[in-house]
Amino acid sequence: MDFTLSAELEDLRLRVKTFVNDEIMPLEADPANFDDHEMIDETLLAKVREKARFAGLWAPQMPTDRGGLGLNTVGMAVFYEEAARSRFGPLTFNCSAPDDGNMILLDRVGREDQKDQWLQPIIDGKVRSSIVMTEPAPGSGSDPTMMLTRAEIQGNDKWVINGRKWFITGAEGAEHFILLARTSDDKRRSLTTFLFHKDQPGWRIIRRIPIMGPEEHGGHCEIEFDGLEIEDSNRLMEVGEGMKSVQIRLGVARLTHCMRWLGMSKRALEECLDYVEDRVRILARHWPSMKASNGCWVMRRWISRSDVC
Ligand SMILES: Cc1cc2nc3c(=O)[nH]c(=O)nc-3n(C[C@H](O)[C@H](O)[C@H](O)COP(=O)(O)OP(=O)(O)OC[C@H]3O[C@@H](n4cnc5c(N)ncnc54)[C@H](O)[C@@H]3O)c2cc1C
Repeated sequence: MDFTLSAELEDLRLRVKTFVNDEIMPLEADPANFDDHEMIDETLLAKVREKARFAGLWAPQMPTDRGGLGLNTVGMAVFYEEAARSRFGPLTFNCSAPDDGNMILLDRVGREDQKDQWLQPIIDGKVRSSIVMTEPAPGSGSDPTMMLTRAEIQGNDKWVINGRKWFITGAEGAEHFILLARTSDDKRRSLTTFLFHKDQPGWRIIRRIPIMGPEEHGGHCEIEFDGLEIEDSNRLMEVGEGMKSVQIRLGVARLTHCMRWLGMSKRALEECLDYVEDRVRILARHWPSMKASNGCWVMRRWISRSDVC
């Protein structure tokens, strides 16, 4: 199989790489640029996002007629890997989780009017979004069909939501929410997908769940629904097609998450190499008989053999 990138894609990859090195790495290098959760300060983010957009490196996964780059799956993989050499990269280019997967789902299955209302502001970087699926045990986790949160139809055109969710990334500060809820006990078609706005009454954030290390903007939240009303026009796909929407969203996310992590891993390896070289040099200074260059050479050879460098 030929894995050679097309000239066009290689050019894009190099542009992403240059942007990450020149514009994002300097921000990442200074902790004064971080917020309280070690994520990039939102004012700085807005500025560097504007530069990315100007450089033509914006929303790689979205169609060109909505302001994206219209990349196919291979193009996205290449872009995401290069972007994630900095942990602020995907956010800068508007291809970070959870907005990334949410945009892809809305673009694939939304009606045009739903795309205008719910998708376009995310593409434009005006709002953030969350996907609301997981529940505390014994509710939905690895198996979404265990969902306890219910949506009951009222009249012909309104759904009422009651239940509890947790680990909802970005919920604090997100404006557009994609919600999965149980609408029947049919084994195959028990779930339905809905859209709601943060300003609608009937839901609240109970707490922001602490995690290890830096946190995405808006954290990972526990949420309660107590009579949230959603118009039927804000239902995504047909009643009972919730599992299908989950598969569409998470299927692509498996690839995009992995490409981002691959980019991060390569960066970690580069930093490891720098450290090893310095460490060997420092050691050599104190231990003159040691051949510093040999130590580095062995390390580099081992890494290049595993074909990751
Ligand atoms: C940082 C973070 C961000 C997240 N963001 C979101 C978000 O934005 N929106 C959202 O909805 N959710 C989010 N989640 C939740 C995530 O989707 C769930 O954690 C995941 O689906 C697993 O569910 P669970 O935690 O309930 O684990 P469980 O389902 O309880 O699984 C626990 C363990 O049991 C194993 N297991 C489960 N069932 C079986 C089985 N039948 N056979 C064998 N092994 C099994 C699992 O593999 C796992 O190892 C997030 C989680 C984290 C940690």
